[in-house]
Amino acid sequence: MIAEDYGKIDLHLHLDGSLSAETVLKLARKEHIELPADTAERLRPYLTARADCRDLNEYLRCFDLPLAVLQTAANLEEAAYELGKELGEKGICYAEIRFAPQLHSRQGLTQEEAVRAVLDGLGRAMEDCEGRISLKAILCCMRRDKKHAAGGTKGNDDQADPDIGNASYAANNIETIHMAAKYLGRGVVAADLAGAEGLYPTRDHEEEFTLARQLGVPFTIHAGEADGPESIWKALEFGAARIGHGVRAIEDEKLMDELARRGIPLEMCPSSNLQTKAVGSLKDYPLRDYLNRGIRLTVNSDNMTVSDTWAGKEFALLSREYGLTEEEAVRLLNYAKEAAFEMQQE
Ligand SMILES: [Zn+2]
Repeated sequence: MIAEDYGKIDLHLHLDGSLSAETVLKLARKEHIELPADTAERLRPYLTARADCRDLNEYLRCFDLPLAVLQTAANLEEAAYELGKELGEKGICYAEIRFAPQLHSRQGLTQEEAVRAVLDGLGRAMEDCEGRISLKAILCCMRRDKKHAAGGTKGNDDQADPDIGNASYAANNIETIHMAAKYLGRGVVAADLAGAEGLYPTRDHEEEFTLARQLGVPFTIHAGEADGPESIWKALEFGAARIGHGVRAIEDEKLMDELARRGIPLEMCPSSNLQTKAVGSLKDYPLRDYLNRGIRLTVNSDNMTVSDTWAGKEFALLSREYGLTEEEAVRLLNYAKEAAFEMQQE
């Protein structure tokens, strides 16, 4: 089996970071949105992080254009459909696609309308692929600073965020958890926490995940990517069933033991981890250290367009530059099968 063939499952894949340049162009034209380039080739540099990208904050700026075109139900449906179809064509058989419903409300779309649009698009893609692929959704809450998280009042002197106007960030995250509960088992499989981890710590988001636990919504949390081991400890304390990235667990022996003992899968995304500087080079990638300790690792793309990759390409990269063996690849793929939220809900 060639390395790329191990890319059958993607558990960590953002919708907005995975739209092809062609899709962004098509959706922008429909809405008469002006873009900085008018061909896919010229648009691509705006959507893909440079190899020498400075950090997670710079990486996150590549999401501006895709988000600008994903503000109507029709465009969200089509984006989810195009992505699902592309995954099917690549031979992926199971993917969990994540997005933050609250980031699609600039033109008045409700979170529920955004969720339904994405589920419709994924459903249409599955039909087109005639059962060769199963596509599920993960709903992301967004990291915000304490001032915003605590504020529920309108106006104040806070700058209005283009994504959510003056609404309370905390209230939006709470609504996202309620949406995840409502659509759990109907296309949605879990919740998540995304955004700039280095700026907004995990510890400020206890309320969201206390509610998720109460409502029986499983969740993963981006942790140990831009922030250190304490972020992962917090995510575990909240009850995360999986950890997004978790590359910085390597700094804490006790934490690695805990992840192994509890069988908490890590959703690793090598290319993205290099771009956001979560690791310096693939030689320092903690993959083998984790596997040897019995930590359940999975390999994922994070953002197919921003990181110019897909799950199969990540396996090929690891095989070429890290010396990943067949045996290790099989183990990673098996861990991914077992870590799938769909699997845990059956
Ligand atoms: Zn991510």
